[in-house]
Amino acid sequence: MELPAAEPYKIKMVEPIYRSTRKEREQWIREAKYNLFNLRSEQVYIDLLTDSGTGAMSDRQWAAVMTGDESYAGSSSFYHLKETISLLFGFDYFLPTHQGRAAENVLFSVLVKEGNIIPGNSHFDTTKGHIEFRQATAADCTIYESLDPENLHPFKGNVDLDQLKNVLEAHARESIPFIILTLTCNSSGGQPVSMQNIREVKALADQYGIPLVFDSARFAENAWFIAHREAGYERKTIQEIVLEMFSYADAMTMSSKKDGIVNIGGFIATRKKEWYDQACTFNIMFEGFVTYGGMAGRDMNALAVGLMEVLEDDYLTSRIGQVQYLGEQLSKYGISVQKPYGGHAIFVDAKAFLPNVCQEEFIAQTLCVELYLESGVRAVEVGTLMADRDPITRENRYPQLEFMRLAIPRRVYTNLHLDVVATALKNVYDRRLAVTSGYKIVMEAPILRHFTIELERVVM
Ligand SMILES: *Cc1c(COP(=O)(O)O)cnc(C)c1O
Repeated sequence: MELPAAEPYKIKMVEPIYRSTRKEREQWIREAKYNLFNLRSEQVYIDLLTDSGTGAMSDRQWAAVMTGDESYAGSSSFYHLKETISLLFGFDYFLPTHQGRAAENVLFSVLVKEGNIIPGNSHFDTTKGHIEFRQATAADCTIYESLDPENLHPFKGNVDLDQLKNVLEAHARESIPFIILTLTCNSSGGQPVSMQNIREVKALADQYGIPLVFDSARFAENAWFIAHREAGYERKTIQEIVLEMFSYADAMTMSSKKDGIVNIGGFIATRKKEWYDQACTFNIMFEGFVTYGGMAGRDMNALAVGLMEVLEDDYLTSRIGQVQYLGEQLSKYGISVQKPYGGHAIFVDAKAFLPNVCQEEFIAQTLCVELYLESGVRAVEVGTLMADRDPITRENRYPQLEFMRLAIPRRVYTNLHLDVVATALKNVYDRRLAVTSGYKIVMEAPILRHFTIELERVVM
């Protein structure tokens, strides 16, 4: 018999977690105004809110923490990271930032002007936030297959080239500062972009003389999918695939909290000296001097190690395998989830799950609260709350799909934890028809409202 692929690590340090009672959770979620971001982590049993900054560092990363250089200028940790980035992505210019959205802020301060259009595959919420904050527009050109959770297209993060071409045709060259590709595409379910699609987008970008930027938070997971799903890449190493992917980009923004396997940090890297030179000014203003940009030397050191570890095939196979494992459990129970399963999370189709809740009452958020009450598992809404209001009409934007995202932190939980999640969700599924109402908003922020929103139960 073939041996199962167990986790490619053993555990050296443990952190206790607490199994609360339903009565406790009822009180806590009420106090949190039915916003799971407002819960204290002690009130959560298994935390699948996000895979961002929640991973476990390796002993090699912790060792690198101890040798971090905290010099204000020119620290050896900066150069360690710079050399790693140059080796992996082929970019010579690099600026550290305190996290991914800070990288967006600095780069977009240079590139995005009022009235601009930035086409791409489903933009991440902070990316869209930074675009709209500058009175510019994000044009989503993701392939239509991504809207059908049951469609088994292997690269549902791909850009529809006709849609992209229409956007490029409809606007003046000067109003499109760049095209952005998110790898993997978080908003469409952790879905990868194929190398062929990257190449075709690059060809179109070149034809119109427009630069290409990668939002790269999960670049290694994207490369793993290319290795396993795209003809011609079976025998290539993840490192080779990553280098080819980024050979088509002019710049990258990175949230190191994902595939950097560190708890905080981000960066910009580019081959364009003129972008780098201008970004330096903004970096110094908003982040810090160019050789630390909001990061401690020890964190840059740990990131340099994490960026190498994340490319290991054993690691990626175990990581993505764990996500697939949860997806299979849920499918077995008849629960509809985005397929194929993504790289970092399972996206549960909340509309199919709760047919008796209307979209005006936030279906996916209702499901997140139900799952929390059932088990203390924390998921996150990727639906109407996150889609926010239209910046001009101020009306709610109702996305076609309402997802509850179960994001799996890297190297943190075992498959037994995931069995708890699957069983809890099955229990909610068994009583789903009895859930007939959701929530209404009592307080919301003007942008990125889902983080701080306050809700109230709709009483039938
Ligand atoms: C997390 C993320 C960001 C923002 O990064 P932060 O580190 O959370 O600020 C941007 N884009 C993508 C695709 C992400 O996943």
